[in-house]
Amino acid sequence: MRIGFDLDKVFINYPPFIPAFIFDKFYKEKDNGELKYRIPGKIDQQIRKLIHFPFLRPPIKENINFLKELSKNSDYELYLITSRYNFLEKRTLQLLKKYKFDKLFKKIFINIKNEQPHFFKDRIIKEENIEVYFDDDLSLLKHLHKENPNLILFWLSHNKNIKAQSPIKTIGKLSDSLNYR
Ligand SMILES: [Mg+2]
Repeated sequence: MRIGFDLDKVFINYPPFIPAFIFDKFYKEKDNGELKYRIPGKIDQQIRKLIHFPFLRPPIKENINFLKELSKNSDYELYLITSRYNFLEKRTLQLLKKYKFDKLFKKIFINIKNEQPHFFKDRIIKEENIEVYFDDDLSLLKHLHKENPNLILFWLSHNKNIKAQSPIKTIGKLSDSLNYR
C-alpha cells in the first residue's frame, strides 16, 4: 500500500509561540471560493526562512514514532509530499536529515517548482498512485477528494470538536488511523 504524508503539522510543529491562525492567514487566500495559496515575495521569503529554522520546528514525536513502526512493515511504501516552496528546499532537506526521515520514506517530494500546493500534491498523488494520504489542511484534502474519489484521506485535526465531512476521516494523531481499519 502506498501511503503519502504531509510534513508541517504532521511530523513538524509550528513555532510554539506563534498562534496557528496567523500561519493560516499567511499561507492561504480564497479567490471566488477557489482554493489559492500565496506564494511569498522576497521579504516574505526572508521571514519564512527565519521561522523555518529547525530549532523553531519541534518534532511531533508520537507521529514520527508511528511512522517508524509503519516503515518496518514491507507492505507499506511511504511517501513524503510537502508543498514547501523552492526557497525552503535546503532548510527542509536539513530538517529531514536531522530527523532521519530520508531513510523512512521511499520518496520525498518538495514543491521546488512553486506550484499551487493543492495542484502539486494532486499531481504527485496521481503520478505515484498514492492510495492513502494524511494532511492537516482540510481545504486541500477536499480538493484532493474531488480529484481522486478513491483516495483514502485522513485529516489531522488539532481541534477535537471539529470533524471533516465523510469520506474524509478525522484523526488527532497518525495512530488513530488504525481505528478505521
Ligand atoms: Mg501541513
